[in-house]
Amino acid sequence: MLPKFSYVLRPSLLRTVNPLKEPLKSPSLSVLLPPPSTSIIKRSYVTFPSSFSQFFSTFLGSSSALRVRNIKVKFFQRLRTSRERLRTSRTRFSTSLKSTRTRLRRLKYSKTISLNLPETALLNPSLGSGWFDLTGAPLTTLSLTNRYLTPWESEATKKTLFEFIKWQFERYVSTSDSMLIPSDNDLPLKKIELIGGKRVTWLGHSSCIFTLSSSSNDMNILTDPHFTSRASPINGLGPKRYRNACPIDSNNFMEVVENLDVVVISHDHYDHLDVPTIKAIEKEKEGVQYFVPKGCKRILVGEGVEGRRVKEMGWWEEEVYKGVKFTCTPAQHWGSRTPWDRNKRLWCGWVMTSPDASSYYYSGDTGLPTRFPLFEMIGDRLGPFEIAAIPIGAYKPRWFMSSQHCDPAGAVAIHKAVRSRRTVAVHWGTFPLADEGWDEPRKDLDMACKDAGVCRETEFVTLDHGEGIDAKEEEFDEEGLDVYDFVSDFDEEDLEEEEFEEEEEEMHHNN
Ligand SMILES: [Zn+2]
Repeated sequence: MLPKFSYVLRPSLLRTVNPLKEPLKSPSLSVLLPPPSTSIIKRSYVTFPSSFSQFFSTFLGSSSALRVRNIKVKFFQRLRTSRERLRTSRTRFSTSLKSTRTRLRRLKYSKTISLNLPETALLNPSLGSGWFDLTGAPLTTLSLTNRYLTPWESEATKKTLFEFIKWQFERYVSTSDSMLIPSDNDLPLKKIELIGGKRVTWLGHSSCIFTLSSSSNDMNILTDPHFTSRASPINGLGPKRYRNACPIDSNNFMEVVENLDVVVISHDHYDHLDVPTIKAIEKEKEGVQYFVPKGCKRILVGEGVEGRRVKEMGWWEEEVYKGVKFTCTPAQHWGSRTPWDRNKRLWCGWVMTSPDASSYYYSGDTGLPTRFPLFEMIGDRLGPFEIAAIPIGAYKPRWFMSSQHCDPAGAVAIHKAVRSRRTVAVHWGTFPLADEGWDEPRKDLDMACKDAGVCRETEFVTLDHGEGIDAKEEEFDEEGLDVYDFVSDFDEEDLEEEEFEEEEEEMHHNN
């Protein structure tokens, strides 16, 4: 009896071979049977052809076998190329995944460092991040998208459209005093008089004339000139002025511009950089020198101001003009003139130092940093100041405004931090820009000064439009020493010791 075996391929293609009777001709296809003597009868052995070509050559002849071989070669070639293609695409995919991951990580990292840098930079000044110098002072910094940012609080002045709409809606439905308009008695206009000396004259909003007189020099510096009726890019729209001490078609304006030497601009907002006013100045007076923060020169040159008369500067940069040193100082604000140019131009304050070494400070628009000693730094580097002009208005609602505009209490804090001897309040009582009433900044300033122990009449003053005030008289003690220097140079203990030594000497003499 023959042992049982099973077929693997179609039975018609198979030959059954008994290896004992007939030796195998080809190894290609065979069904092996165990020797009949073995007791294993249920197992079957099947050998496959070693390759398809051998299989076909066995049954179909050599030419077909060649064809089959070619097919096989082509098939394997194709297989190899498709495998290679697969491998390349896989590599490409993993590379792109990796780079996306790196990009994401970098983004997260930059966000983290932007939030944490101030402390890190202060604790470890050698960090050299590029956002701060080695003393921890903030530097003019551009983001990856070429927009200026605030190194100590890079998210500080960022506002979403939703937040803006929310503010506008709240403003619309609220019944605040912001719509009230002052009468002539409430907010009188004074005649502008540029009489020399060390003096500042407020022309409304942030427009001031700093008069720096020294033995060798006399200079009138105008800050953020704005003498038209609206702070807006569109004629007849936008916040309308309450008072104008210096309309551009008035005699006042001619007088002011006639005596003008320098214009400094703090940023590109429409209530600070007013093109019609610049044009009017250019028409009336030749050779006015301009100092502007980075990115603003183009606007002026585009309006016909000669490029050589416009000096564009970054934070802490200095330039001496006719003996007066102009230093561009950092501020916490932002810039924009259209919906798509946010922070494309820098914002700043200005310090003017006259040849006799007395310094004057205009802060520009600024919020008060919550955890960074910005104004202490400015005071340490460039103060104390004879006169400062610091904004007190456009501060309500606080949730929207605090990062970009300080409130009166913040202004008093800045006044103290920069060590100003006399500060004039600006950025109030001119345009209805925010939710507070026109007189609220002045009233809140009363309280803030009281709380901080600052004299409202002599140290932090509010003026009428067009009014000026001299630098504070220096306080001298009986021996003619400056009180400020006296207090800072001596300790009480030192004094006591000195007195004691003197007494001892006297006793020796007497003996
Ligand atoms: Zn502004």
